Amino acid sequence: MKVLLLNLPRYRDKLPVVREECCYGATHAVPFPNTLLHVGTVITSLHNNFKVYLYDSVLLNVDFHNLRSYLIIEKPDLIITTLLFYTFSYESEIDKICDELNIKYIPIPSPFGYANSFIKKINPLFIIYDEPEKTIIDYLTGTSINLLKGIIYKQNNNILKNQIQNPYFDKLPPTNWSLLGNYGSKYGWKLYQISRNCPFNCNFCVWGGKKFRIKPVEVVIRDINRIKEISGDNKISLLTSSISADKNWFYEFIWKVKKLNVKFYTDISVNDANKEILYLLKKAGCIGILIGIESFNEEILKSLNKKIDLNKTEELIKYSRRIGLPVTITLMFNLGEKEETLNDYITKTKILAPTNISCVIYKALEGTKAFNNSLPYIYFKFWGSDAVATNNYLKEALEYIKKFNNEIKILKLKNLFLSLKNFYLLKTNLAKLVLKILNLNAAKKIKHYLSFYR
Ligand code: SF4
Repeated sequence: MKVLLLNLPRYRDKLPVVREECCYGATHAVPFPNTLLHVGTVITSLHNNFKVYLYDSVLLNVDFHNLRSYLIIEKPDLIITTLLFYTFSYESEIDKICDELNIKYIPIPSPFGYANSFIKKINPLFIIYDEPEKTIIDYLTGTSINLLKGIIYKQNNNILKNQIQNPYFDKLPPTNWSLLGNYGSKYGWKLYQISRNCPFNCNFCVWGGKKFRIKPVEVVIRDINRIKEISGDNKISLLTSSISADKNWFYEFIWKVKKLNVKFYTDISVNDANKEILYLLKKAGCIGILIGIESFNEEILKSLNKKIDLNKTEELIKYSRRIGLPVTITLMFNLGEKEETLNDYITKTKILAPTNISCVIYKALEGTKAFNNSLPYIYFKFWGSDAVATNNYLKEALEYIKKFNNEIKILKLKNLFLSLKNFYLLKTNLAKLVLKILNLNAAKKIKHYLSFYR
């Protein structure tokens, strides 16, 4: 059986996106397709007669037209792909192609919570909504669709959802990097996922409130070493909800990673961080941490169920600066912030002076608690569609970011940038509107990214 792991083409404007479960958004450099690599790894470990291979249309810059020709020639028996919610209208082209060429396909939504709405619009074999690696193992080893956990599918015009899958992520073997063929060094962003889910329960987050699972230390160390070898690069980003969520894991990891002589970026939660942890990270080769603060406003944090201690947060950011560990903080806009809130953000940011600020426009994602509940301060304006151009909340959020940025840039922060998730993936006129509204250094930076991604 020929199984093709397919990274779908870039969106219309040719920017790569991250089709991973936590849904990073658009990116300036092509990242490893982690989910597909995980799935490919478990298939190759089955030692059955599966011929599994990966085709990365993003890296090769192949559009749907050429992809179709490739599939006619290759004729795989099964395609496994990831599907990103905000570029879904484009990516779902694969549905038509597979139908025409009579190829079975299984999409893994990004984030997983979108399985419910995707199944209404496309006709795959089934859609995976939970632990894709284990679900694929079960399917390929003979579990029938009606008994297969973690899937949603259609049967006689009915939509059926099977029970959740058993946990598996923390049992993943070392990644089979040979799936990348000779292209390992071509990926611009060595983003490597080490964990899934998060012990904390922020209601906007696709990982929130689900049992935290992390790959064994020896697997992570082996993979980091391989990434270094295949990419010829010693700068790696370790994707996790928090690198120090499991303290025993963390201490063992620090001890081992230091010997590899790699430079790494990673994510950390204020809740389980302390000065010692930051110091150890720095000593072990960490060159940047991302702290998800989202807001400096207690009321907004409460509405997000983001339980962080702002005093501790400030203390840790200051400490990071003192020991020379660059720190990026995230701030979310479009949460109903008021003029005073913004002024507060400006004051706090000036005091803390983090190395980077990642400004994100909030949107409610399917599968999160915020999507299902009507919470105060959160405007549930889904803005992955063309309708966004008339979304007043978005305009308001943009105005806030503009004002925030205007104030903050006087600090000459090393690298203030706007992680304008999804912006440049929308209609051209909206992208222009955004750039016009911003008309700032950050906008120049985005233009720079547009021309420099690979
Ligand atoms: S701490 Fe971060 S990863 Fe965890 S639930 Fe909150 S936002 Fe998500």
